[in-house]
Amino acid sequence: DEAARDGKRWATFNPASVEDADWAMSLLARLDHAIDNGELWVAYQPQFDGQTKALIGAEALVRWTHPEKGQIYPDQFIGPAEQGGRIERLTYFVLDKALAVAGNVNRGGRHFTIAVNLSVPLLSSDKLVPTVERLLHKHKLAPELLTLEVTETSTLGSAEIQIANLEALSALGVQLSIDDYGTGFSTLEYLRRIPASEIKIDRSFISMLNKSQSDRIMVNSTIQLAHSLGRKVVAEGVENEEILQELQQMGCDIMQGYHLGRPMPWQDLLSRISEGEAFRAA
Ligand code: C2E
Ligand code: MG
Ligand code: MG
Ligand code: MG
Repeated sequence: DEAARDGKRWATFNPASVEDADWAMSLLARLDHAIDNGELWVAYQPQFDGQTKALIGAEALVRWTHPEKGQIYPDQFIGPAEQGGRIERLTYFVLDKALAVAGNVNRGGRHFTIAVNLSVPLLSSDKLVPTVERLLHKHKLAPELLTLEVTETSTLGSAEIQIANLEALSALGVQLSIDDYGTGFSTLEYLRRIPASEIKIDRSFISMLNKSQSDRIMVNSTIQLAHSLGRKVVAEGVENEEILQELQQMGCDIMQGYHLGRPMPWQDLLSRISEGEAFRAA
């Protein structure tokens, strides 16, 4: 069933126990152990063309299935991993898995895109660009099919090396997306400075689109602004048909959300892709 697909069949870890000092202190060690022992895996949430509704890509989202605690969601360990020096390892783990899946999907001549989340601290690493290049090569994936999503924060774009890395990735042909757009630091100057080909409007502006006139106005004008700057727009958190239709009318380029598909294991993603193709061929 749908719930099982999102991994919800596992008992959900109670966030209150994150405050448990014992757990918090050992989180980083457990995370290392988790990567070594296959407790960490990657879920894929399908992305759809905003106009034709065809399945065109997926976002890779990290998952942690702990043998005793059950399913632990990224909000509970990405922050600590960034602060504890583990984000590099985690990111390259996810990137390796996601590019392997995308490489396979595209072997049959498809044009299926894969989006991977990139933490802002990694943008200051001189290993970032060579690693992305090496993994693209390893999995024989065209750079244009990879989108790296960076969350807008006050520190994004603040250092020379970050801009240099973003420009190097862009020069490689990798697409860049500003994730959770609208919640953070979005100024016009910022849009000009970051070489992103795409902005991803935060779920909090999308999920009430059918109920809130002001959200409609903000989303609509954001789409217009992005389009006039030559950027694509992705909407995340599309939870019902009404919202989907609003976005379609506004000219939104790509849609993602529970209404269209939950994050799922790669095998399920492959089935969705084949079903979609069978449907179109019929
Ligand atoms: P994000 O990149 O903005 O990802 C979207 C989040 O919204 C995902 O939560 C997804 O499951 C959820 N979502 C998607 N559609 C809907 C919807 O229709 N309704 C609702 N209510 N939620 C929806 P998730 O997987 O828990 O990820 C949370 C955040 O953790 C991500 O936000 C991202 O910032 C971070 N994250 C996840 N995986 C990675 C990773 O591999 N690396 C890094 N650095 N960060 C990651
Ligand atoms: Mg994202
Ligand atoms: Mg997002
Ligand atoms: Mg988000």
